[in-house]
Amino acid sequence: MNTASDQTALVTGASKGIGRAIAMDLAAQGIFVFVNYRSDKDAAQKILDDIHFQNSQAAMIGFDVTSQDQCDAAVKQILQQRGRLDILVNNAGVRDDHLFAMMKKPSWEIVMETHLTGFYHLTRPVVRQMLRQKGGRIINISSTAGQTGNAGQVNYSAAKAGIIGATRALAREIGSRGITVNAVAPGFIETGMTADLNRDNILQTIPAGRLGRPEEVAAVVSFLCSSQAAYVNGQVIGVNGGMV
Ligand code: NAP
Repeated sequence: MNTASDQTALVTGASKGIGRAIAMDLAAQGIFVFVNYRSDKDAAQKILDDIHFQNSQAAMIGFDVTSQDQCDAAVKQILQQRGRLDILVNNAGVRDDHLFAMMKKPSWEIVMETHLTGFYHLTRPVVRQMLRQKGGRIINISSTAGQTGNAGQVNYSAAKAGIIGATRALAREIGSRGITVNAVAPGFIETGMTADLNRDNILQTIPAGRLGRPEEVAAVVSFLCSSQAAYVNGQVIGVNGGMV
């Protein structure tokens, strides 16, 4: 890998939560970070300001991972601006929880489109570039739900399990080309995505007795992006306070 200061990363869904923490952590190491947002441009601008304040480099890039055209255009723009893309963090995500018997098709589709088809839309053009570069790091944010399943989240659990399968298969496919593909599977993390969940019920399931912090997920992602992790490939690393 190049030195951190030459490297370029793209973090999807970086306007808040876990993606924000990942973008901040990578930028703090001197990596140029593209901060992706879908709808919350103001939040993305605030992150950009925070990154610039710490004398690190970043740019905003708005696109929706459910659109192939927007993903293609984003990769093109990044390559025009920076000439390379070393790190992709597929983090963008949504929940649309219902008991399965009541789950309408749009709830199934939006979760699949965002997590799984979004992975396809963005990762494929990025892999083509990484193959040309003969190197890169791809980190996919899965979930404990994709490892154990979660009642009320059949759609989300299926999508996150799919991400684990895609991670393992792609790692085998391109591992000989200097590219690693790993997944990070967070448990319950303090973000907007978990704000409406019942705390008492959740805490009973977490041996650590607390929710995780976005920074605790970001630290593992940063390790997987580092040169020390060159021999870690096709793995799923839990950050879950002992849940799995
Ligand atoms: P969050 O605070 O709700 O943030 C979600 C982010 O995803 C936002 O930046 C949002 O952008 C972006 N996003 C959603 N749909 C998008 C799309 N179609 N295209 C581009 N960006 C999109 O969620 P979070 O808790 O940080 O979750 C981040 C990732 O971790 C997700 O994949 C989630 O499934 C996973 N995860 C979270 C937890 C947890 O406990 N929080 C646990 C396990 C896994 P805008 O706001 O700009 O629209």
